[in-house]
Amino acid sequence: MNFSLIWVFLALLVGVLLGVYLATLLRTRNNQQKFEQLNHRYFKGLNYLLNDESDKAIDVFIQLAETSQETFEPQLALGNLYRRKGEVDRAIKLHQALISQPNLPEKYRTRALLAIGKDYMSAGLLDRAEVLFSELVEIEAHTPEALYALTDIYQQEQDWQEAIRSAKRFQNVSKRQMHVPISHYYCELADLAWAQEDAVGAENNLASALHIDPRCARALITQAEIKVSQNKLDKALSLYHLAVEADKDYLPLFIDDMATCYVQSGQGEDLEAWLLELIKSYHGVSPILTLANWYEQQKGAAFAADFVEEQLQKRASVRGLNALLELNLNKDKANLKDSNLGYFEVLKSLVNQLLKGKSKLRCRKCGFGAKQKHWQCPSCKNWGVVKPIYGLESE
Ligand SMILES: [Zn+2]
Repeated sequence: MNFSLIWVFLALLVGVLLGVYLATLLRTRNNQQKFEQLNHRYFKGLNYLLNDESDKAIDVFIQLAETSQETFEPQLALGNLYRRKGEVDRAIKLHQALISQPNLPEKYRTRALLAIGKDYMSAGLLDRAEVLFSELVEIEAHTPEALYALTDIYQQEQDWQEAIRSAKRFQNVSKRQMHVPISHYYCELADLAWAQEDAVGAENNLASALHIDPRCARALITQAEIKVSQNKLDKALSLYHLAVEADKDYLPLFIDDMATCYVQSGQGEDLEAWLLELIKSYHGVSPILTLANWYEQQKGAAFAADFVEEQLQKRASVRGLNALLELNLNKDKANLKDSNLGYFEVLKSLVNQLLKGKSKLRCRKCGFGAKQKHWQCPSCKNWGVVKPIYGLESE
C-alpha cells in the first residue's frame, strides 16, 4: 500500500473518531462505552491495514459496517478507496456489509446502492450495475448520477437507443449538456443502418444527430458518404463543405474524397480555387498535398514539385517533403543518373522511416495517440476528441 493511501485512511479514521467523540460528549454514558468499543475496533482495523494485513483489516471493517451506523460515512469512503485502488472485491464486500444493516435509513441505503453499482461497473458486471442504477432511477434517488452511470453502461454495451434515452433524461435532470455524445449515438445507429444498406434509416438517424447538434461533423461526413455512394456528387460536396465549416480539424479524413467528387463531377477548376483559398488559412499540409496531386495529373510532376517546394518554404512538413521527393523522382526518373537516383531513394527511405509508426491523430482530452480514426477515444471515452495532430511530422 502506498503512503498517500495510508494517509487518506488515517484522515478518514480521524474524521470518524472525532465525529463519534463529539457525539459521545453530548450524549449518554452508554454511548461513551460504545465509542470506546468503536475506537478499539477501528484502531484494530487500522493496525492490520498498516501491517499490510488487508484480509484481516477488511474483516474488521466489514464487521463494523454490518453493525454501526455511526461509521457509515467513512466506511462508504473506505469502500470507494478500495474500488479506486482496483480492489473491487473488497469494495463490494464492504459496501454490501453496509447495506445489510437492519433499520438502515433509506438515505444511507440508496447511497450504498449507488456505491455498489459503481463497484459492479468497475468489476465489469454491467448487468448487475444496470439493475441497481435502474432501481435508483425508479425510486428517484441519486437520479442524475444513476442516469449518467446507465448512459455509460448502455454505451459500453453499444445499446445506442437506451444510451440516447438515458442521456436525454440525464441532460434534463442535471442541466449538463450531452448533445455531443447523443449526436454520436445517433451516428452509431446510422452506421448500423447503413451497414445493412438501409439508407432511409441511416438518413433519419443522421438528421436526428444534426437536430441535437447542428455542428456534428461526423453526421455531415456520413451524409456526404451516402450521397457519394448514390452518385449525387454535388449534394455530397455541399455536405462535405458543411462538415469543413462545422469542424475543420477533420478535413484530412475526407479531403481526398472531396477532391474525387470535384474531379468526377467535372469541377476540377473549382477544386483548385477552393484549395488555394483554404491553404491561406488552414494550418495543416493536407490541402497542399491534395492540390499537388491535382497539379501532377493536370500540369505534370515538375509543376506540382515547384508548387510543393514553394509551400514548404512557408511551412515545414515531413509529409510535404515526402511528396516533393516523390514528385522530383517522377519528373526526372528517366534522366536521373544512377548516383542521383540512389540519393533520392535513400532520402525517401529515411523520410518514410520517420513517418512510419507515428500517430496521426491524438485525443485532445487525454493525449491518446492513434493511427486510425476513432469517433470515441478508446482511452478516455469522450466523443469527437480524437483529431489530427498538427506539426512537422504529421498534419
Ligand atoms: Zn481521450
